[in-house]
Amino acid sequence: MSKVSRRDFTRLLGTGALAIPVSTLVAQLPSHAEDLPLVDPESATAKQLQYVAVTEVEGKRCDGCVLYTASDDVNGKCSIFPANLVPAEAWCSAYAPKPS
Ligand code: SF4
Repeated sequence: MSKVSRRDFTRLLGTGALAIPVSTLVAQLPSHAEDLPLVDPESATAKQLQYVAVTEVEGKRCDGCVLYTASDDVNGKCSIFPANLVPAEAWCSAYAPKPS
């Protein structure tokens, strides 16, 4: 096992020798919200919040909730499900209407 001193590390940064490993790490991260999977209605959090992928209550859907940020026309991000997307037409019991 080799040990890299602070000086050697700084020198490596200056030469760009670490650019490839850093770019490899970045490439493994989801680059766009569209890469996130939809919420699984069977997950523990979804069940706890009575999440449904298609609301049955008119006027109460994710795209009208303060916690929703649209990613495109059909899906968006919700701070309750940070690793997922939620459909605009979904709903859960944490719904809070956007101020009009
Ligand atoms: S809190 Fe519930 S209703 Fe609001 S955006 Fe998230 S999943 Fe949809």
